[in-house]
Amino acid sequence: MTLRETLASGTRSFSFEFFPPRTQAGHRNVWDAIRRIEALAPTFVSVTYGAGGSSRDRTVELTKRIASDTTLRPVAHLTAVGHSVAELRRIIGQYADAGVRDVLVLRGDPPGDPRGPWTPHPDGFTYAHELVTLVRESGAFSVGVAAFPERHPRSADWDSEIRHFVAKCRAGAHYAITQMFFDVDDYLRLRDRVAAAGCDLPIIPEIMPATDARQIRRFAELSDAAFPARLADRLEAARDRPAEGHRIGVEYAVAMSERLLAEGAPGLHYITLNRSTATLDIHRAVMATQGVTA
Ligand code: FAD
Repeated sequence: MTLRETLASGTRSFSFEFFPPRTQAGHRNVWDAIRRIEALAPTFVSVTYGAGGSSRDRTVELTKRIASDTTLRPVAHLTAVGHSVAELRRIIGQYADAGVRDVLVLRGDPPGDPRGPWTPHPDGFTYAHELVTLVRESGAFSVGVAAFPERHPRSADWDSEIRHFVAKCRAGAHYAITQMFFDVDDYLRLRDRVAAAGCDLPIIPEIMPATDARQIRRFAELSDAAFPARLADRLEAARDRPAEGHRIGVEYAVAMSERLLAEGAPGLHYITLNRSTATLDIHRAVMATQGVTA
């Protein structure tokens, strides 16, 4: 089954996200995490796409290696930022040659300052829906796109946010994965708004293991996600007790995940930060609530 068919069949999807490491030690960590996660037979794993240069090549290499050396289904993130259409075609061709059939299509943010002015490549794209069209025209790919439970920071209002999300759906996206968030109601409101606009794309919620307040605050600032004080305060209080921070973060993520699944979310996409411990603890606990041993 393709990922598109899996999601369309109503089977819950469980997936894990990695980023391409820079160093030898980073490589060992990510492969250790990949092998542990492989044993759980997840629906897919995804590899983020860097802001530029060599990190982009590392994304392509890691994705291809997952396709060739593991039993996992890799989903390659691909961004439009800084690429001509010809370059994008070449990368899509490399994935096709390596047997990668799943691409998460994104616009990307300006390199350096993600909040800086957006300047399209002169021979490239301005919005993600254009890249969705290109990937769909390039072969039998399953295409995912980004969704924002708290609205994309550049969107003026919810009407334009939903209109532009639906444009990605109409361009041929098969599913979406959300930005990280910490309030399940934000996800449910987004899903209902998208459905009310006539789009039935499965929207997979992203789960961030929040075990370290400083780290999550930094990520939340970068992505404009709200980091609720009730969680931040508990993590701050456990600052010098990593095991307690771990327990708090896992407990919070499990409670969110349980409610999301009970509300009909099509699956869960876990951010791993290339480590497996917190993610696996969350996943195992979530599976136990679903009556499955992982
Ligand atoms: P778009 O859908 O193009 O939207 C960008 C903005 O433009 C939105 O405000 C939208 O409303 C607006 N817009 C869209 N169409 C129009 C139009 N026709 N007219 C006017 N306005 C319009 N970034 C990376 O660099 N690498 C990654 O690997 C990566 N992975 C991600 C994974 C997930 C699950 C998510 C949620 C985000 C990820 N990002 C990644 C970040 C993402 O690239 C940024 O959030 C980016 O700013 C938005 O990308 P998008 O694909 O949603 O863009």
